[in-house]
Parts: sequence; structure tokens; C-alpha cells
Amino acid sequence: MPRYEYRCRTCGDTFELSRPMARSADPADCPAGHDDTVKLLSTVAVGGTKSAPAPKAGGGGGGGCCGGGCCG
Ligand SMILES: [Zn+2]
Repeated sequence: MPRYEYRCRTCGDTFELSRPMARSADPADCPAGHDDTVKLLSTVAVGGTKSAPAPKAGGGGGGGCCGGGCCG
């Protein structure tokens, strides 16, 4: 079950709740009993890291001096 972080605007406390995703937007009472809370951005990381694309092989790219005919 995903965890969501909330912040109480009454006492400024932050707390986490584990609740179904369908109820992530439901009001959440802070541990002190206040109900004026806001949901913070989820800290749950999603997905993995894709490998970086390989650099293009071969010359002719921009930025090189010999590619624009300025070496002659
Ligand atoms: Zn509070």
C-alpha cells in the first residue's frame, strides 16, 4: 500500500499515512487531531532508471572544426 505524506496547517506537523491510492485525496487528520491538512507530493519512487542512450557514432556532428570546412 503506498504511503502518502501530509502536512497539518494548524500545527505544521508532517505525517505519513498508508492508504489505498483511491483514497489518497481523502482528508487526513494529523496525529494531534487537526483536520486542516494538505497532501504533499508523494515520496514513492516509481520505475527504474533506463540506461542512457548510446552516443551517436561517426563524425559529422556539429561543434567540430573539421565538420564545417573551416580547417582548410
Ligand atoms: Zn495538527
